[in-house]
Amino acid sequence: MKILLAASEAVPFAKTGGLADVAGTLPTNLKKQDKNIDIRVILPKYKGISDRGLKLIGKFKVKIGNEIKEVSIKSKILSNVPFYFVQNDSFFYRDNLYGTSEGDYPDNAARFSLFSQAVLKLPKLINWFPDVIHCNDWQTGLIPVYLKNTYAQDQEYQRIGTLCTIHNIAYQGLFESQELTTTNLGWEFFTFDKLEFYGKINFLKAGIIYSDMLNTVSNEYAKEIQTTEYGSGLETTLCARNDNLHGIINGIDCQEWNPTHDNFIYQNYDINSIEKKKENKKKLLEELDLPFSENIPLIGLVGRFSYQKGFDILGNTINKIMKLNLYLVILGKGEKTYQDLFTCLATKYPNKLRVIIDFNNLLGHKIYAASDMFLMPSRYEPCGLGQLISFKYGTVPIVHKIGGLSDTVVEFNSKSGKGCGFTFKNYLPFYLLKSIKKALKTYQNQKLWKKLIKNGMALDFSWDRSAKEYLKLYEKIYSLKRNN
Ligand code: ADP
Repeated sequence: MKILLAASEAVPFAKTGGLADVAGTLPTNLKKQDKNIDIRVILPKYKGISDRGLKLIGKFKVKIGNEIKEVSIKSKILSNVPFYFVQNDSFFYRDNLYGTSEGDYPDNAARFSLFSQAVLKLPKLINWFPDVIHCNDWQTGLIPVYLKNTYAQDQEYQRIGTLCTIHNIAYQGLFESQELTTTNLGWEFFTFDKLEFYGKINFLKAGIIYSDMLNTVSNEYAKEIQTTEYGSGLETTLCARNDNLHGIINGIDCQEWNPTHDNFIYQNYDINSIEKKKENKKKLLEELDLPFSENIPLIGLVGRFSYQKGFDILGNTINKIMKLNLYLVILGKGEKTYQDLFTCLATKYPNKLRVIIDFNNLLGHKIYAASDMFLMPSRYEPCGLGQLISFKYGTVPIVHKIGGLSDTVVEFNSKSGKGCGFTFKNYLPFYLLKSIKKALKTYQNQKLWKKLIKNGMALDFSWDRSAKEYLKLYEKIYSLKRNN
């Protein structure tokens, strides 16, 4: 089977969030499951992607409104997976992927319309026609629209099926209706059953309607997004496609995220040498100028400073949290309001709180390894990688019971010794605090705590399991297209 995975970011080339981990890691894991699968990845060539080692494959033109844009396709093979890069420097040679802290780039509709059209020109350019194009998020939402319209009469394209993976329903690619002209789709697409969305155009809605199959990154989130509370306005569109909407939890890259051989951390350890984990805590606290103490647990948080990640309830309850016997280390980058708030709070609590405003993978690794607990009070969470990485590092997650967090973190029961973390259901500061207090209480019983750590470390959230499920979905789409 031939799969073309189209994404706006993929590790190790470009990353702002979990999507990059999925797009960069899934392909090699699919190959492990099925040696015959020919999977290739395509993404934009951003400023941060060096030309070194890239080979020019070809060039073509793409129409964006009244303009003709030159596109080069470059390529590189990584771990046996061909990666293709769509180069148009006026669109992609910028400091960031989607925008600055001031807001989104104003020409994002044109940028990702060009990307989507380029994805569909690739098969002809390299004479390789995939069975499935695996689209990801709004940036690739127009691909199935072009495929089913612009390419409707093209025999080589008629057997290509599409899967649209929704990593986060809140990001939809919403643009003013006039942008329809930049996409080269006619006004006949500006109707409720197509791209129109409250007077605007919506790229993700396009992906949902025109793809053969849909999935999101956890079972719980697949259900949640069909409700008014979490559907961000697309709930009815999603309900209409309920039969074809699946949930597949993400895996983590166990090569990168593994305390047994992680080069970024101070001291390696595994499930049989958990006592060595403490060395990481000692060293990190030293680096952060905080005194180590056996009895004071360290809570870590690594995540985007955004409305989604629960910084509002954390901010609301921080004064009470700071009264507890703990350290809190936050590493994040994102919305200025939260960055400013937490930078200010860090100066208020110099003996307990550290806030590092940065996107820093190295420090991220150190925090996962050093912390006793990992905090994810997300308002909503499609899948979440932080809690899965924490399990691997013997760090106990404290999470809001929502979406993927709900699918993966089972409340610890001190009587039965079962469970792997602490959860709170109601999204309120009081319940967050209650959950932290429960974790602290359990931490005081080190025998029980060790059991809890081991429960998490024994879980399997590798990509093998998720890759098997993606394979099944691809096969489903394959036979759907063959039987039509
Ligand atoms: P998102 O909604 O941002 O995709 P996920 O939990 O799915 O959230 O994935 C976020 C990934 O990015 C995790 O691997 C996390 O460790 C990493 N990450 C987030 N913010 C930072 C940061 N400031 N520095 C380093 N790594 C980060």
